[in-house]
Amino acid sequence: MKNQLLIPLFLTVGATLGGCRASTLPVTRSALGTPRQPADLLAVIDLPGPLTVDTVVSAYWEVDLDGLLDLSDPKAKAAGLTNRGEPIEVDFHAIRHPQLGLFVVDTGVERAERDDPEHVHVRGLVRKVMNGDKSRMVDPFGAWLGRQSDRLQGVMLTHMHLDHVWGMPDVPAHTPVYTGPGEATGKQLDHLFTQGLTDDLMAGQDQVSEWPFVAAADGGLAVVDVFGDGSLWALATPGHTPGSTAYLARTPSGPILLTGDTCHTAWGWQNGVPPGSFTADRDANRRSLNALRELAARHPKMQVRLGHQRLVP
Ligand SMILES: [Zn+2]
Repeated sequence: MKNQLLIPLFLTVGATLGGCRASTLPVTRSALGTPRQPADLLAVIDLPGPLTVDTVVSAYWEVDLDGLLDLSDPKAKAAGLTNRGEPIEVDFHAIRHPQLGLFVVDTGVERAERDDPEHVHVRGLVRKVMNGDKSRMVDPFGAWLGRQSDRLQGVMLTHMHLDHVWGMPDVPAHTPVYTGPGEATGKQLDHLFTQGLTDDLMAGQDQVSEWPFVAAADGGLAVVDVFGDGSLWALATPGHTPGSTAYLARTPSGPILLTGDTCHTAWGWQNGVPPGSFTADRDANRRSLNALRELAARHPKMQVRLGHQRLVP
């Protein structure tokens, strides 16, 4: 059967069932991370920090622009943007803390994608719908991890879309995994289509630990001080998915913001246009994107690294 017929079938069945969670993994409140107020982040944001952040291209890929960008946005219309295949990257980010060691944000793609295509997890219909044949594997997570001398201490996810947990099979079993609140448990129709695969990709892990955000007193971004020393911050940016999370790392040369898929594209960031059909709640996504852009505008030394494209080629 053609994909075009199967997907409406899935969604019709799903609609009658009310959708399901992104993953059935147990969920707990993270013991790592201290809830703080935005003012606490702003007090240190421009001070040099101790972290390094290496962004690794795990794969090149091409997907539909109308998923990456809301083409009904007046700015997208004015620019004459129409749907087309858009080249993107699947990245992950290695964060090193001088005392606490190596962490990653997201996971790129699994090693089998490049080295053992017979045994990849993303296959069949899901692979077709994901445009899997339009991907070119560069540095799978397991291949990269094999070259590192330090042990991986944890995986911090921006969210649980398949292209962000694609490398999870290469993550050593029982590694702590962190997400925003509601990321694994939020019910959506398309999870009927992805939950089994997400669970397979994360099969070696015990649970998902949710960042302990508390609402900001001034209505701004809720923030968690991840290591308790003000070096790494998790920022609640719901919208793209319920638990979408951005990360801000303080390095010797200034702050680095990892937006996750609150913004996939360079054009979207430059023009303040949120993602399109890949986003669950476009209004909430727009509010989160605006908050991140305002933060970056007020701190010009900030380097911004987007979900799937480079701001500086
Ligand atoms: Zn996404």
